[in-house]
Parts: sequence; C-alpha cells; structure tokens
Amino acid sequence: MTKVLALVAHDNMKRDLAEWVDWNSRNLSRHHLVCTGTTGKMVEKTLRDHREEDESADGIRELPDLKITLLKSGPLGGDQQLGSLIADGKINALIFFWDPMSAQPHDVDVKALLRLATLYNVPTAINRSSADFLISSPLFEDKTEHSVHIALTFGAIDPKRGYYCYLFCVFHEIDTFLLIQFL
Ligand code: PGA
Repeated sequence: MTKVLALVAHDNMKRDLAEWVDWNSRNLSRHHLVCTGTTGKMVEKTLRDHREEDESADGIRELPDLKITLLKSGPLGGDQQLGSLIADGKINALIFFWDPMSAQPHDVDVKALLRLATLYNVPTAINRSSADFLISSPLFEDKTEHSVHIALTFGAIDPKRGYYCYLFCVFHEIDTFLLIQFL
C-alpha cells in the first residue's frame, strides 16, 4: 500500500540520508515522499540518478514515476508545514535525520515537529539504523486494512454448538463472537 513518508535531514546529515535513500530507492519510489525543500531536492536527485543507473544497466525502467512534494526549506518554515500535515493526519511515517552536534537557527521548529510526530503517534526514525528498522518492519508493509469481523447468534450454549462456533470463527476470520442467550 502506498504511504506518505516525510523525509528531512539537517545539513550535516544530508549525506547520510542520501546514502540511505540510494540504498532504499526501489522501496521508497513506491511511496509518496514529502520533504523539506533542500532535503527534497537531494532526495529527488538521488532517486533519479539511481533510476538512470538502473536504466543504463539493463535498459529496463524499474522505478515508477516519483511522487515527491517539496515544502519550504526547514529554516524558512518547512518544518512547520510538515508539522501541520502531521496534525492533519496526512503523514504515515517521518524520517528525520536531525543533527545532534549543532544548534539550528530554527531549533524551536525542529522541537515542534518532533513533538507533533510524538503526539500523533507517527512512526519516526532519527538515524540510519532506526530508519532501516522502520522501513523493513512488517507493519510498514502491511497491505491489509485492519477490519474487525463480528458474528452474532442467538441460542443456548452447549459444548457441540460451541465447537461449531469456534470452527466458524476460525474459517471466516471472525475476531469477536457474540452469543445472546435466552433464559
Ligand atoms: P532543508 O530543511 O531540507 O530545507 O535543509 C531541513 C531542516 O533544517 O529542517
């Protein structure tokens, strides 16, 4: 299922993110990417370069068209725009390689972005290893919408009937079985 992934990297971390994007280009190209301005340009270039290499290697166009939205640059409000998308429930995961060694002019925006990602329970990766865990998680690739099936019946409980009900639930992937008993 296509997801909306937000990618952001501070300047000193952009190289890390570029390498990570290059390594995961095939997977990432299937999703809609939303990036702060400068990060987005770099991500787009990395993915296009990767695609050209693929094309020249075997003549086959492996990657589908990229879907990338570029917001404003982080220090110019991009982090705030991203925070607003998170608050609107439009972001499925955040990959944010923030720089632990330098202060940023927009530190308050960075903090606000991470706060909103936490508040809205958005899966967030802050470095290459956590990004690897996130993108390779079976939960990330979950192709099925979760639905709850409930079966309802009326009658009396007896062991034979209970056994049939159990089999019915297993075969029909029923999550909850309600039996209303008449006294
Ligand atoms: P940038 O912004 O992608 O425009 O560099 C990132 C940030 O500093 O939040």
